[in-house]
Amino acid sequence: MTAGTTPIFGKIAFIGIGLIGGSIARVVRRDGIAGEIAISTRRVETLNRARELGLGDTYSLDPAEAVRDADCVILCAPVGSSGAIAEAIAPALKQGAIVSDVGSVKGDVVRQMQPHIPAGVHFIPAHPVAGTEQSGPDAGFPDLFKGRWCIITPPEGADEAATARMVAFWQACGSKIEVMTPEHHDMVLAITSHIPHLIAYNIVGTAAHLEEVTASEVIKFSAGGFRDFTRIAASDPTMWRDVFLHNKEAVIEMLGRFIEDLFALQRAIRFGEGDELFDLFTRTRAIRRSIIDVGQDTDAPDFGRQKA
Ligand code: NAP
Repeated sequence: MTAGTTPIFGKIAFIGIGLIGGSIARVVRRDGIAGEIAISTRRVETLNRARELGLGDTYSLDPAEAVRDADCVILCAPVGSSGAIAEAIAPALKQGAIVSDVGSVKGDVVRQMQPHIPAGVHFIPAHPVAGTEQSGPDAGFPDLFKGRWCIITPPEGADEAATARMVAFWQACGSKIEVMTPEHHDMVLAITSHIPHLIAYNIVGTAAHLEEVTASEVIKFSAGGFRDFTRIAASDPTMWRDVFLHNKEAVIEMLGRFIEDLFALQRAIRFGEGDELFDLFTRTRAIRRSIIDVGQDTDAPDFGRQKA
């Protein structure tokens, strides 16, 4: 969508205005995807910052006030707060409105929110698979979703026209779309995003502990592999605490498989089974190649990061 074309929604409301809410608000404003933007968040400091940045047209600490007359409401807060926010906005939702979210977990968010969605209001959850390790309204930028996937997870029986409108909305924000069930989403994201974050948090935690107890120089001499883990492990603690607490089953299932495979590697190293290591490392290199081939990353050295 380009500036000047017909908006997809008259009024859109964001509840939570950090990295993701702030990025959607920016692209919506820049490209005229909605006519009016209402913003609500929990803390007055964050609301004032959003106002200073000019992210919306109206600002309120009361989420029910923000959603009044909105055609689309998008929850952009940590997933643990989804149920309470849905309950707070429910009485103020307009008939025919679409309620959506951007949570990194879907099954649990549907369970939290669905009971509060009034009849005549459409509930179409979504997850833009795009982000950075930054948070807060200053971290957002309008091209965050450009060329990235957005997974839409309509609950069973969801209105097709409302789903199509959310598809059109995310396409207008620059995303490629995939539609799947909330449960399938949670399995796929457990292995592609949640477990990698857990591994990063764990390895950085172990290294920091080693440094403390052995006075070694783990941080000073950290090489590329470790530095890349520290970038992931700098991700927002509240968001990621909520991801693990609310995608428990899928994460535990995938973690079980990961640990089994790790033991197999430990065994191969112990018994000098070099062919096994070589075969795995060759297969994983091909996976990296295929991720680059489909445009999910660049093959610039060091993940394209600037050298200090
Ligand atoms: P963020 O930058 O930390 O922003 C979170 C926002 O939610 C802040 O404006 C915060 O406001 C607000 N908030 C927190 N608790 C709230 C509550 N109870 N009621 C209303 N507002 C509340 O986080 P984010 O990265 O944008 O993540 C938001 C959502 O996007 C999460 O569900 C996350 O799973 C999902 N997501 C994140 C990424 C990523 O890479 N970061 C990618 C895709 C999806 P206050 O300052 O006022 O508390």
